[in-house]
Amino acid sequence: MIPQPPLHPDSLLLHADDPLHDGTSVTPPIPWSATFTAEDAQAFARMASEPMHERYYTRYGNPLHRRVARIVADLEGAATGLVAASGMGAISTVALGLLAQGDRVVAQRNHYMGTTKLLSELLARFGVTAEFVDQTDTEAFARALERPAAMVMLESPTNPDCSLTDLAAVATLAHAAGATVVVDNTFATPLNQRPLALGADLVVHSATKYLGGHHDLTAGVVVGDAAMIERLWSTQIVLGATLSPMDAWLLLRGLRTLSVRVHRINESALTVARALAAHPAVESVSYPGLASHPQHALALRQMSGFGGVMGLRLRTGYEGTARFVAGLRLAQHAVSLGGVETLIVHAAAMWAGTLDEAGMRLAGIEPNLVRLSVGLEHPDDLIADLCRGLDALPAG
Ligand SMILES: *Cc1c(COP(=O)(O)O)cnc(C)c1O
Repeated sequence: MIPQPPLHPDSLLLHADDPLHDGTSVTPPIPWSATFTAEDAQAFARMASEPMHERYYTRYGNPLHRRVARIVADLEGAATGLVAASGMGAISTVALGLLAQGDRVVAQRNHYMGTTKLLSELLARFGVTAEFVDQTDTEAFARALERPAAMVMLESPTNPDCSLTDLAAVATLAHAAGATVVVDNTFATPLNQRPLALGADLVVHSATKYLGGHHDLTAGVVVGDAAMIERLWSTQIVLGATLSPMDAWLLLRGLRTLSVRVHRINESALTVARALAAHPAVESVSYPGLASHPQHALALRQMSGFGGVMGLRLRTGYEGTARFVAGLRLAQHAVSLGGVETLIVHAAAMWAGTLDEAGMRLAGIEPNLVRLSVGLEHPDDLIADLCRGLDALPAG
């Protein structure tokens, strides 16, 4: 064999999963089956005992699971990976697969809400303690990691405010404390940030977001070394967060265009962020790609692009922010992010039933904060839509 140069990510997205050059269809068939037949008793015994077998029972594996995991593992520079029915399916598999009673986790004050609840509520019931530190403060991690920890859970940029964690520095501190370093790389995608190269042991994704990219499926992925992934697989088959073969097929299809989507979204989001930052009705824009982001130097060091998500603070209160969000035409008012359609959410609206404006301020939930996930619309159209809404806000 002539040695081949390593493929660029654009090509890996199309070829890492090794399509068969055997006259079969270019797109894979959907192995739409919960179970697979064995040729004979010996083959059956092998299927039943071999870890991560892809044609035994779909909860144990499916050929499309394998193909999707291969692509994400290659993009992240990992040996192998595992897919799950959602991002939380992957994250809970990691936590329950690696932690035991008495273990200590160090995590960020700011995480995806499901991760925070998993660590602070569910795992607490099983005797796992978690300490949450300000992720922008590496010294705070150093103090928390003066004592041994089993796991350090990281996520950068975060939701909804796009603050960053110094992944390389914290990974070094974590390893010195004996911890496994897990990074949720959902917001960045493997095209903009590669945590394993910065020292992480495992990378998780909500593939519901950029990897799938079309707001039509939920899925999760975890990648890492072979021994750890096999251990997580043995946990996953009892937890049962199994990705449906149809959703695995949609995810594979979404992944084919990840590179063009992410590069275009990186460019559009920077254009939109700059335009919004210049609008008088905007108090601040938190986007790692802007020089005004307090951690912009870190962003340049550990990211090669800045993604599509930004936090906006408007010069208005709860009602004005709610009217702004509801009045947009192109930016749709819905949770989730990372897809082809631009989505926007009013962070405080999630708490509107339980807290008044003063209560939200006390709890640190600013009533004027929105999260914008830029999609594939033309940036000029998005800017026009957003500025029309901003122009309509009462001055002040
Ligand atoms: C959405 C999200 C999750 C959870 O993923 P699901 O697919 O909704 O289960 C985890 N982490 C981050 C950063 C997310 O944005």
